[in-house]
Amino acid sequence: MRVEVQVTDTTLEGEYREVDGLSGQCERCGHTVEVYGDSDASERALCVKMREECPEGENNFYVSSR
Ligand SMILES: [Zn+2]
Repeated sequence: MRVEVQVTDTTLEGEYREVDGLSGQCERCGHTVEVYGDSDASERALCVKMREECPEGENNFYVSSR
Protein backbone atom coordinates (compact mmCIF):
# COMPACT_ATOMS: atom_id res chain seq x y z
CA MET A 1 0.00 0.00 0.00
CA ARG A 2 1.17 3.48 -0.83
CA VAL A 3 1.27 5.74 2.21
CA GLU A 4 2.04 9.42 2.11
CA VAL A 5 4.48 10.94 4.55
CA GLN A 6 3.57 14.53 5.35
CA VAL A 7 6.91 16.31 5.21
CA THR A 8 7.60 19.56 7.02
CA ASP A 9 10.76 21.55 7.61
CA THR A 10 12.07 21.58 11.14
CA THR A 11 15.16 22.33 13.16
CA LEU A 12 16.89 19.63 15.16
CA GLU A 13 19.37 19.68 18.00
CA GLY A 14 22.81 19.23 16.49
CA GLU A 15 26.00 18.55 18.34
CA TYR A 16 26.95 22.22 18.52
CA ARG A 17 23.97 24.09 17.17
CA GLU A 18 20.54 23.65 15.71
CA VAL A 19 20.52 22.24 12.20
CA ASP A 20 17.96 22.04 9.44
CA GLY A 21 16.03 18.84 9.28
CA LEU A 22 12.84 17.27 8.06
CA SER A 23 9.95 15.94 10.05
CA GLY A 24 7.62 13.37 8.53
CA GLN A 25 4.26 12.17 9.73
CA CYS A 26 2.62 8.95 8.57
CA GLU A 27 -0.77 9.76 7.09
CA ARG A 28 -2.21 6.48 8.31
CA CYS A 29 -1.13 6.22 11.93
CA GLY A 30 0.37 9.61 12.76
CA HIS A 31 3.78 8.19 13.63
CA THR A 32 6.49 10.82 13.23
CA VAL A 33 10.17 10.51 12.29
CA GLU A 34 12.91 13.10 11.86
CA VAL A 35 16.10 13.24 9.84
CA TYR A 36 18.95 15.72 9.57
CA GLY A 37 19.22 17.80 6.43
CA ASP A 38 16.60 19.03 4.00
CA SER A 39 17.89 17.74 0.67
CA ASP A 40 16.19 15.27 -1.65
CA ALA A 41 18.39 12.57 -0.12
CA SER A 42 17.15 13.52 3.33
CA GLU A 43 13.60 13.24 2.07
CA ARG A 44 14.28 9.72 0.81
CA ALA A 45 15.96 8.85 4.11
CA LEU A 46 12.87 10.10 5.91
CA CYS A 47 10.66 7.73 3.93
CA VAL A 48 13.04 4.81 4.55
CA LYS A 49 13.04 5.57 8.27
CA MET A 50 9.26 5.69 8.27
CA ARG A 51 9.17 2.30 6.59
CA GLU A 52 11.36 0.92 9.36
CA GLU A 53 9.54 2.54 12.26
CA CYS A 54 5.89 2.81 11.27
CA PRO A 55 3.84 0.48 13.50
CA GLU A 56 1.38 -0.03 10.63
CA GLY A 57 3.65 -2.62 9.04
CA GLU A 58 6.69 -2.75 6.87
CA ASN A 59 4.92 -3.78 3.66
CA ASN A 60 3.82 -0.24 3.00
CA PHE A 61 5.53 1.93 0.43
CA TYR A 62 6.17 5.38 1.84
CA VAL A 63 6.31 8.41 -0.41
CA SER A 64 6.95 12.05 0.35
CA SER A 65 4.00 14.40 0.20
CA ARG A 66 6.05 17.03 -1.60
ZN1 LIG B 1 2.11 4.62 9.99
